[in-house]
Amino acid sequence: MTNKTPRSAGRIAVRPTMKPRELMTDTPDIAGTWTAQIITLFPQAFPGVLGESLTGKALQDGLWRLDTYNLRDYGIGKHRNVDDTPAGGGAGMVLRADVLEKAINDARAGARGAMQLVYLSPRGQRFDQAMARSWARADGVTMLCGRFEGVDERVLEHFGVQEVSLGDFVLTGGEIAAQAMIDATVRLLPGVLGNAESAVEESFSNGLLEHPQYTKPAEWLGRAIPEVLLSGNHAKIAEWRREMAEKLTKERRPDLWAADASKKR
Ligand code: SAH
Repeated sequence: MTNKTPRSAGRIAVRPTMKPRELMTDTPDIAGTWTAQIITLFPQAFPGVLGESLTGKALQDGLWRLDTYNLRDYGIGKHRNVDDTPAGGGAGMVLRADVLEKAINDARAGARGAMQLVYLSPRGQRFDQAMARSWARADGVTMLCGRFEGVDERVLEHFGVQEVSLGDFVLTGGEIAAQAMIDATVRLLPGVLGNAESAVEESFSNGLLEHPQYTKPAEWLGRAIPEVLLSGNHAKIAEWRREMAEKLTKERRPDLWAADASKKR
């Protein structure tokens, strides 16, 4: 095995300190940290937007961890080739099975506990909140980002890879899809969202889209905030929000509404 050391982002980065190790009691145990492993030709694209705001702070605080595996490191020959022309002809290039095998084996060797191996792919099952929840309950996830025409099919069969899609459109690579899915998953990890309530009440968490939100000013360009929200009556407010969530879901997402109704009635 080649075993290239993965590049890590976040808490594991060396930060000079005068504090003796044993006094750094705020340092969480890395062994038990939820981990995203990313196999990609573009490791420099990570953490990308995940390094900002709540996910970025959580990464720095060691609430989750990000390891990239540079596919180029596993390439063949002087030029570190990772791709070749499609068997049977046609446009574009395909990522080679033997190159992917080495990268996946390295990532697997560095994995801990239950971590699904996922290929970002427009042919895959559509990513959704339920998938984010199940990944958040696991120890992490290993993601293979495709480029060009994609990967040699035999890799998907051999490793039992789950194909997951961000939506019904074609991206040039899996990296943006990986970041979107990691964002949705990491924000469900304990301690990542400042306010624990916010993940419970938002869209999809209860099978409904979220109610409209308002803030100051109370009147803006002739538009007032719905009176009930300023009433201080919490029961009334909760009832209004529930009604609005149901109305929005019925209007915009009859599919979600039907699924919700079949669960509850
Ligand atoms: N020829 C392929 C598309 C290749 S796009 C096809 O028609 O199915 C190049 C890479 O971008 C893919 O290997 C995949 O990793 C990524 N990608 C493209 N669209 C995606 C989507 N909707 N969701 C997740 N990943 C996607």
